[in-house]
Amino acid sequence: MISAQALLVIGATSLRRHVAAWWRRSLLLVVPLLTVCFYLGRADSAEVSLGDDPNIRISYYEIEGNTIEELRQALLTRGPIDEKGVRRFAYTRWFISWRWPHLDGAAVLSRATAAYKIDIFVPQWNEPRGASTEVRMRWSSFIAALLAHEKNHVEFARHNFAHIAELIQQAATSNPKLSEDQAEQIAQRELSRIRMLDWSYDTDTNHGKLEGVVL
Ligand SMILES: [Zn+2]
Repeated sequence: MISAQALLVIGATSLRRHVAAWWRRSLLLVVPLLTVCFYLGRADSAEVSLGDDPNIRISYYEIEGNTIEELRQALLTRGPIDEKGVRRFAYTRWFISWRWPHLDGAAVLSRATAAYKIDIFVPQWNEPRGASTEVRMRWSSFIAALLAHEKNHVEFARHNFAHIAELIQQAATSNPKLSEDQAEQIAQRELSRIRMLDWSYDTDTNHGKLEGVVL
């Protein structure tokens, strides 16, 4: 005899996976606190922590330079290229997926779940010996603003991804006949809302420039 629990597990092995394409954004950046402190050499510098999150991956590209202009040129020539082919100071993309199990061939929408991953590409200045205080201070200010800005983007995805599963669960509970297509529409609507948070934030801040992301 096969229990319902066993059937559910069997069904779960063939979960229909609903995956939104990597949502790529052209942004600025996020750097872990220790690295920031290391290359800024200042304990009071940009302290942006993303916590211990295995769903976030941070990659660095190194830049050299002794002057602000050299640093700016290095960013413009070595920065990552976004989905529109535009080179940026940094680049972040988030990915949100959702799924639900099937039991006896029927979708169990009330047990929908969601997950996320975030990739961040950021610059790292190989500070030369004897870098001037002015250059170090301006870089510090730039990075601090960049980190603060980017962290907000990270949090838009991280704080909202679960809503997709919650909304599907709620809809399935109030409407037992909810179809998978309807659940998918709910997910897509919420995904659009999350994207809009990013879009609005960048529009309001001119991609961080109004927050001091300027070098
Ligand atoms: Zn932004």
